[in-house]
Amino acid sequence: MQGRILVADLGNHIGELVSISGWVDVRRDQGKMVFFDFRDRSGLVQGVVLPKSPAMEIAKDIRNEYVVRVEGLVNKRPEKNVQADRQNGDIELEIQTIEILNPSEPMPFDISGDTSGIDENVRAEYRYLDLRSKRMQKNMRVRSEFIRRCREYLFANDFTEIETPLLTESTPEGSRDFVVPSRLHPGKFYALPQSPQQYKQLLMTAGFERYFQIARAVRDEDLRADRGFEHTQLDLEMSFVTMDDVMAAVEDMVTTVVEAMGYTIQQKPFPRISYKDAMEKYGADKFDLRTENEKTAKVLAYAWVVNFPFFEKTDEGEWTFTHNPFSMPIPEHLEWLMKGEHIGDILTTQYDLVCNGFETGGGSIRAHKPEILEAVYKVMGFSNEGLEERVGHMLKAFRHGTPPHGGIALGIERMVMNLTGETYLREVQAFPMTRGGQTSVMKAPKPLTEKQLKELGLKIDKK
Ligand code: ASP
Repeated sequence: MQGRILVADLGNHIGELVSISGWVDVRRDQGKMVFFDFRDRSGLVQGVVLPKSPAMEIAKDIRNEYVVRVEGLVNKRPEKNVQADRQNGDIELEIQTIEILNPSEPMPFDISGDTSGIDENVRAEYRYLDLRSKRMQKNMRVRSEFIRRCREYLFANDFTEIETPLLTESTPEGSRDFVVPSRLHPGKFYALPQSPQQYKQLLMTAGFERYFQIARAVRDEDLRADRGFEHTQLDLEMSFVTMDDVMAAVEDMVTTVVEAMGYTIQQKPFPRISYKDAMEKYGADKFDLRTENEKTAKVLAYAWVVNFPFFEKTDEGEWTFTHNPFSMPIPEHLEWLMKGEHIGDILTTQYDLVCNGFETGGGSIRAHKPEILEAVYKVMGFSNEGLEERVGHMLKAFRHGTPPHGGIALGIERMVMNLTGETYLREVQAFPMTRGGQTSVMKAPKPLTEKQLKELGLKIDKK
């Protein structure tokens, strides 16, 4: 007999004695005969233990979700028993032996259907079981395929994949940072990256010209359906480009990838709308362009939103950036920025990608000359020292031959939510956090031991 065969391949082994390994998806004990559905990564197959089979005794002990190795004969089903709509519906495994590789306690909740209605904390505690369900298996595989195809596209188009640090300096991305205390430098902290923004720009200074990364971004924000502490970005940056170049590159990648996955794009090229028109027409800068019929088909309605204001007033009446302080204004407004005039009217080169009601990505052309970035920080009220402290390292790089450049980050989860029709981020992440900020399966956040606190020079202020 050959080694393990995947159940999806059993149709090629009719009449042969084979060995399969996997989980017991369902057991149906009919007294004289016991039926099973076995599951492995490739799908399902039905097996039967006939009355005189030596496997009968053990078959009676086996329960759902046991891990087993099964030997049996692949039989064609008689015509009247064929289930044409099911995988392996035309064959059946006549079981000779079953070896229990590992038994299982009963499932804490039903994993045979859609688990989205199960209590969130229970799902999180047993996330590895939740992930066995068909919908979650599909979501994770769609995510993997989407990322794989994007990678393939980017490699074919001369991009280099480069990782940037996780322990870094606080970046002015507009959210609260997650910080990590330093043992070597008590009282000092690293920040987890809100995005690889500054490093990817420095990679342009370094001459890579086309960079990408499947990057984790961490932001201490209020949790929402489509926002978690952690998310993954397809982050990219290109040198010697205009807004149109980056938008065209992203559009071509997204189109190539999603069409290969069987989806239809509503409008090509993606329509473009100004922020002002979007607010007037939809009351928001993200919107759903699909018709009711398209919502049930695999239709993706992508659109670009452009011409965002660069600055807005804070509650304290100071200017702050709306999207990204490293952006360049549109060419017509560069002079206003440099002179510090018409601040509220300056438009940025920001482009946001919207799809089916979600903001799925955003990027811009960057300031690549020190005086332009300086002008942005001056508008925001920074002194020379403040500027140096915050972005001095970027200004220095810009004085050493940084080419014009721009890029974008696409939100992988939101992209995959569009592909799977899910409305919650946690349905497309393997181990998401609960709404209360607790990790799946493991129990973070947790207190540190006295020893750890001492090593880090930290004291906890008991509230
Ligand atoms: N760093 C930006 C973000 O994370 C994306 C970009 O401008 O490339 O939203």
